[in-house]
Amino acid sequence: MNEKILIVEDNPQNMKVELMALRPHGYILLLATDGEEALQIAVRDKPDLIIMDLRLPKVSGLEVTRRLRQMPDFSHLPILAVTAYAMRGDKEKAIEAGCNAYLCKPINTRELPKMVAEMLSAGEEDNT
Ligand code: MN
Repeated sequence: MNEKILIVEDNPQNMKVELMALRPHGYILLLATDGEEALQIAVRDKPDLIIMDLRLPKVSGLEVTRRLRQMPDFSHLPILAVTAYAMRGDKEKAIEAGCNAYLCKPINTRELPKMVAEMLSAGEEDNT
């Protein structure tokens, strides 16, 4: 079965890059452009992994991650944080909030699918 990935990103250009990087890999891609929408789609569609921009309208990616981690369904969901190089301290904040890994913008189109695949297979191993 194809894995479902929720991409949370408010910048259309970054969203486009992430979609182009992931589309060839056959995932089912769900999209959210702000934190509220991200929470709604996560709860409704139960993705297998979330790519989480940290700087989002309405509810930040850090806060979305914290709220998801409080729900049993999402306590072990792989969450990959993405944010700009310039934002010092974001990596630490992302891990503290419950993200599993962290990728800097601009998004590297080879690195992103590689990390996604690694995180998905690590999650499968945990379930055995
Ligand atoms: Mn953003």
